[in-house]
Amino acid sequence: MSLLDLDPVAFAARLNEQGGRACLTWDAEQRRLVASQPWLEELAAELSLDERDFNGHEGLFFAVGPETGALHTAFVHNTVRGQGAGGLRHWPYARMEGLIRDGLRLSEGMSRKNALAGLWWGGGKGIVARQSGDRYRDPAYRRQLYREYGAFTTSLRGVYVTAEDVGTTPPDLAAVFETTRFATCVPAAVGGSGNPSGATAKGVVCAMEGALDHLGKGSLEGKTVAMQGAGNVATFMMEELLARGVAKIVATDINAERLDQLRAQFAEAGAGARVELRLSERGDLSIFAEPCDVLAPNALGGVLGPETIPMIQAPIVCGAANNQLLDDRRDDSALAERGIVYVPDFAANRMGIVNCANEQYGKIPDDPAIERHFGREWDNAVFVITKRILELAAAEGVTSSTAANRLADEFCTVPHPIWGHRGKAIVAGLLADGWGA
Ligand code: NAD
Repeated sequence: MSLLDLDPVAFAARLNEQGGRACLTWDAEQRRLVASQPWLEELAAELSLDERDFNGHEGLFFAVGPETGALHTAFVHNTVRGQGAGGLRHWPYARMEGLIRDGLRLSEGMSRKNALAGLWWGGGKGIVARQSGDRYRDPAYRRQLYREYGAFTTSLRGVYVTAEDVGTTPPDLAAVFETTRFATCVPAAVGGSGNPSGATAKGVVCAMEGALDHLGKGSLEGKTVAMQGAGNVATFMMEELLARGVAKIVATDINAERLDQLRAQFAEAGAGARVELRLSERGDLSIFAEPCDVLAPNALGGVLGPETIPMIQAPIVCGAANNQLLDDRRDDSALAERGIVYVPDFAANRMGIVNCANEQYGKIPDDPAIERHFGREWDNAVFVITKRILELAAAEGVTSSTAANRLADEFCTVPHPIWGHRGKAIVAGLLADGWGA
């Protein structure tokens, strides 16, 4: 049985027998992953040959939480532009294969998102395998778990810098921050940047403008935007769109209370007639068939697939949700074949990470380091990069995701202007000192 078939509990038990931590690191000369312990050689060999999700990742780190017994992991994809940065996912996994594939895919995605955003950060992702039962809801258990994760991050000496992601909340990040300095997106109470939703929404709107400009369709004024989800980001997005003069917004959500709240908010602001809010059932996909200028998936991932793509009546799809394509090898082609311009989610929704990644450099009102992403002057501004991606896709006859990945991978070869490829040296130091041996 392959180690990929083990469940995280069995994998953590094996790891515990071997001292509680281990790693797989990339040997660039031999072009293969090297395991820190013999029992993991088989996994290193299997992943080195995997063409689907493995792409020269610099390091995969595994540890067992000393108190909770939970499996803590960190995936570092590329640190040429800076330390591997990306959020910490706390999620249940049936098999190690699912966890490892998520870690590989998501950390590579972070390298690309950070590079396209012009950040001097590399790409990484943390995953904690959620333990069975309900104890993950218990605040005392969570504090212990996240303090452990912070200590694990500290042990990696900064090659990975953690942040918030699915399953991890601001109080969890505060617990992480108690045991490591290698964390961003920490709560405002300890100096962090706070809720990123407003910045994320504004970034997505700039991406919509880039796509409209690419198609020669002018500005957002007078346009109709349909969106799935009327949550945090979507609400800021509606405000931003109304300020830019859209004629109509149609949004669905499964939460009736939320919709009532928004109806009252927009009625009070005198925009009630321009915002149509529809309550929908969980499986209701009718919003994808809404005739509009821009369709914005703002709720869930995996919504663009064989069922929804044929329904779409918008020339542009551009939204905030992560991982919108159900199958990223198939569905961006399906969109392109229908002549629909798709702005890759990781290009449109970058502002979540941009807003917090550099929070240790201090705060400035209307921070120029943030504001330049919303303008049209800077080479890496959302509007500029969106147009560049779409132009590259059109010129080379490839999908927008392929074009975005090509551009991002090119940016990922540019070393950090001050620190160079320091992450590689950090990993070498960890190995020299026997981390996980
Ligand atoms: P949120 O939870 O506040 O909003 C999501 C909304 O979608 C909720 O109101 C929920 O009721 C609704 N929803 C869920 N299933 C639905 C369905 N089937 N049909 C219609 N509505 C449905 O989350 P958010 O912070 O607004 O984030 C939205 C998306 O953007 C997520 O995918 C998130 O990962 C992504 N994202 C957010 C940020 C950020 O800064 N918050 C940054 C990057 C990406």
